[in-house]
Amino acid sequence: MTALLEVRDVHKAYGAIRAVDGVSFSVTAGEILGVIGPNGSGKTTLFNSILGQVKPSAGQVYFEGADVTGMGALPLSRRGIGRTFQSLQVFGRLSVRDNLIAAGQEFSGSAAGRLFARPDAGLGGRAEEIIALFRIGHVAHLPAGSLSYGQQKLVDIAMAFMASPRLVLLDEPCAGVNPALIDELTELLLRLNREHGGTFVVIEHNMDFVMRLCTRVICMAQGKVLAEGPPEAVQSNRAVLEAYLGV
Ligand code: ATP
Repeated sequence: MTALLEVRDVHKAYGAIRAVDGVSFSVTAGEILGVIGPNGSGKTTLFNSILGQVKPSAGQVYFEGADVTGMGALPLSRRGIGRTFQSLQVFGRLSVRDNLIAAGQEFSGSAAGRLFARPDAGLGGRAEEIIALFRIGHVAHLPAGSLSYGQQKLVDIAMAFMASPRLVLLDEPCAGVNPALIDELTELLLRLNREHGGTFVVIEHNMDFVMRLCTRVICMAQGKVLAEGPPEAVQSNRAVLEAYLGV
């Protein structure tokens, strides 16, 4: 099967720091790939390199077989890659619904063949579909800034789905989120995956979340892939235990 995303020997150096040091992996449609690793191991720099937010020093990124290396987040969102950041990107004074519409305006472009929402629904219609999908109708009229941090994170993720992406990169979605909302987020992502064919790459330190959600995991250390495989195998890998899990 052709890979949806292929990362081929990507490097990113900051002076003497090899933040990403020859990383290769691929993601096929329907997978949920977890990216774990100690602080500073290069996970966010890897995301930034995939999305062209930093220019890789070497290597290539392919999306649906096309070389998209260094293309930039907005053109990539139009091609079907969405992303969320560690920090919230919501507009606090706008309602949840208007945040979704604003995100849709930013992303608007061809949505042909996309998942998650009908491309012909118009921005308002698409926002309603995403609100229903994320089950956030009860807060859709409220200013996003009035919601709890965890709820705002859910809205943030929902905004990435306004582009009807075929692949979403999520950077630490559980950080600062309470356990009940983490459960809700896990169920949501599993539902999007199983019922809507959603494909995700998720950076996360919360191992319970990773173990429940991911079909495959890579562990990074010092810019390299230390281990890759099924979640249980990576979690019990000796090198991973030593480098990351502190055993
Ligand atoms: P965390 O889990 O803490 O988010 P991470 O695995 O995402 O960490 P990165 O943020 O990608 O790690 O950082 C990898 C390395 O690159 C670190 O040593 C970091 O200090 C360095 N680095 C990242 N961005 C820059 C930059 N803009 N300039 C210089 N060094 C950087």
